[in-house]
Amino acid sequence: MPDTAESTRPAAPNPVEPTARHGHESLIAQPSTFLLPRGHSRAMAEESLTPVDKDQLQGLKSIRDFLKKRTSYDVLPLSFRLIILNTDLLVKKSLNILLQNGIVSAPLWDSHTSTFAGLLTTSDYINVVQYYWQNPDALSQVDQFRLSSLREIEKAINVQPLETLSVHPMRPLYEACRQMLKTRARRIPLVDIDDETGREMVVSVITQYRILKFIAVNVEGTELLKKSVSDIGLGTYGDLQTASMDTPVIDVMHMMVKYNISSVPIIDSDRRVLNVFEAVDVIAIIKGGAYEELTTSVGEALLKRAEDFAGIYTCSEEDRLNSIFDTIRKSRVHRLVVIDDENRLRGIISLSDILQYVLLYGEDDD
Ligand code: AMP
Repeated sequence: MPDTAESTRPAAPNPVEPTARHGHESLIAQPSTFLLPRGHSRAMAEESLTPVDKDQLQGLKSIRDFLKKRTSYDVLPLSFRLIILNTDLLVKKSLNILLQNGIVSAPLWDSHTSTFAGLLTTSDYINVVQYYWQNPDALSQVDQFRLSSLREIEKAINVQPLETLSVHPMRPLYEACRQMLKTRARRIPLVDIDDETGREMVVSVITQYRILKFIAVNVEGTELLKKSVSDIGLGTYGDLQTASMDTPVIDVMHMMVKYNISSVPIIDSDRRVLNVFEAVDVIAIIKGGAYEELTTSVGEALLKRAEDFAGIYTCSEEDRLNSIFDTIRKSRVHRLVVIDDENRLRGIISLSDILQYVLLYGEDDD
């Protein structure tokens, strides 16, 4: 949310704020809430901006202009591999393939209709776990699940269906970002049409991580983003979902599904951050169909992490957005845990929070 210096700008304010200040009658946002105070022109509002505010807006504009000029295709490295899984494959085999190839998602292909069938992600495995948990007698059945049955599993446990969203690789990158924010997808497949056959062709998958890295490496304007995490209210600070080293893994998975989050900080009794359990950790735990291990503690489960695990990244509320972009430029960051001087948990900044701020702050979100 904007800080006070910026709230004079005509951005749509948080309609919840007036409720807290004025009581019940303000529960409904008045149209005037969205307008500048009488007699204030946009030029006057801009005059009241500090040099840091102006730099910040300039930095954001340079990122948005860049994303509008580049296509999703531009984000792809010169050479890359793409593993596509056939929907006839057994779910348990798909797990091994992901693990063997060191990947955490893959596009699906329906060879019966020769069409793209959505993106397989860690959420799908978490759904299978949820299904097994609700139907423990069906273990032998769970073992025989094919990727094509994921939709039925989702229906049975009443969760969001498999993501089938995609974008054309030659569309502006800005469009891919907006699509991801709209659907809360953390990655998006690039799907083209083959000239010869007229059929769909999956080109690659781009992630929020790759897009932010692309921005960090190529947009000099990121240097202008000198406002701090607390200035711009980046990330989530209230209602944080956490666990301790003793929490059973299955409880953490339930949290992830219930709140649609991809990680849960692990803290001690003083709220000091010890680690972060991530949705991708689930893959190593259930490989080989070891569903019974889900009652083991988070602490034990984290021992199964691969040796090349990228680590946990932290920051403070005083850190500036340009230093976060520096970290993204240099490292494989998937989220930042916000801590105080004593390592105590304050909040969490996910890549979607950064993308959301960079794309939408001050914009009229249509
Ligand atoms: P993510 O699923 O990590 O991309 O995050 C989606 C949204 O949930 C972002 O706004 C995060 O700040 C927020 N979030 C992530 N992890 C947690 C958590 N453990 N507790 C509460 N909110 C979270």
